[in-house]
Amino acid sequence: MKLKIAVLPGDGIGLEVTAEAVRVLNTVAETYDHEFEFKEYLVGGRAIKEFGTPLPRATLDACLTSNAVLLGAVGAPEYDSLIQSERPEAGLLTLRRALGAYANLRPVISYESLADCSPLRAEVVSGASILIVRELLGGLYFGEPRGINRGASSQVAFNTMRYTVEEIERVARVAFTAALARRRRVTSVDKANVLETSQLWRETVTRVALDYPEVTLDHLYVDACAMHLVMNPRRFDVLLTENLFGDILSDEAAVITGSLGMLASASIGGGTDLYEPVHGSAPDIAGQGIANPLGAIASAALLLRYTARLEQEARDVEEAMRRVLDAGYRTRDLDRGHSELISGTAEIGTQVLESLAEILDMRHAYHAV
Ligand code: NAD
Repeated sequence: MKLKIAVLPGDGIGLEVTAEAVRVLNTVAETYDHEFEFKEYLVGGRAIKEFGTPLPRATLDACLTSNAVLLGAVGAPEYDSLIQSERPEAGLLTLRRALGAYANLRPVISYESLADCSPLRAEVVSGASILIVRELLGGLYFGEPRGINRGASSQVAFNTMRYTVEEIERVARVAFTAALARRRRVTSVDKANVLETSQLWRETVTRVALDYPEVTLDHLYVDACAMHLVMNPRRFDVLLTENLFGDILSDEAAVITGSLGMLASASIGGGTDLYEPVHGSAPDIAGQGIANPLGAIASAALLLRYTARLEQEARDVEEAMRRVLDAGYRTRDLDRGHSELISGTAEIGTQVLESLAEILDMRHAYHAV
């Protein structure tokens, strides 16, 4: 397997966590004889400093001609006073749009050994494993017309929620296909009792489901879904929803995992897939070597699964992460005062690599018998 991967560490802890994700991918490549070519490019605040723009042409071109983009995070306080379109975050939004990735996948996993890190009770989150599939290029975020009319006597602001059948169908297929490799259940989330876009959403998803008879489909209104996510997260397998609902529900679901630093994401469906941890550049801890790299490493595992289609390698990386957590290794964000193995970013990366080597040795020994 040959892959060209554009690495965009970005700003702050993005640099620290991306380095660990690349180390993991390199180990996988060496062990399994894959050829992964990594090239690093600037995005965000560091790109503004160097080139005066958050997404330099060279970075965009390199991303468009790569098989995958591995991104850290963007953003730095020194740019907070800039107008929205000039800030580091604008570079990331432009990149996502240019890549055309319309399905954002966020696995939300409650690791057994981290169940007590969630603000929810351990018995509620324990065993939960949800794949959120969020539509990424439609809905209120992109719908036209949009704007603010500022009159002398009154002001009015408006956005448009708009979905075509094609936009709904393509993201629904991503969700049903993902469900086939999981527990074969899709929960589609909408507000069909109020919104026409949701009525079309529900009709379309129901029709697409006919092509996947092995998958059970149910529907939930978004308000009810928000409640079920914290009351009984184990009821969900794949959760499919539109852009705005997905943005809100996936942040809510993050509390199940115990730390923002644990969450990974994949944006797929366009010309090039984009992988990034969900967290930001965390200026409050940047440069200290204490950031949790597991969200970035889990994003690398998603790259193996979705772009490289190397399912076994993806599972091995995820299993290595699980073993490191089970052995009690934690970055500070997961410290609950009774762990003796508080480790830095690079140490956690090294632990994952060592676990991965053990898993691979066992596999080789098994095949040799
Ligand atoms: P943040 O995610 O950077 O940090 C929120 C809190 O979580 C902080 O206390 C931080 O220390 C902690 N945290 C985050 N990731 C962590 C990790 N891996 N390990 C340990 N602790 C971690 O969000 P913020 O503080 O609201 O934003 C900081 C900057 O990041 C802003 O400029 C913002 O615009 C940007 N941002 C970028 C992205 C992205 O690049 N995708 C996402 C969110 C925020």
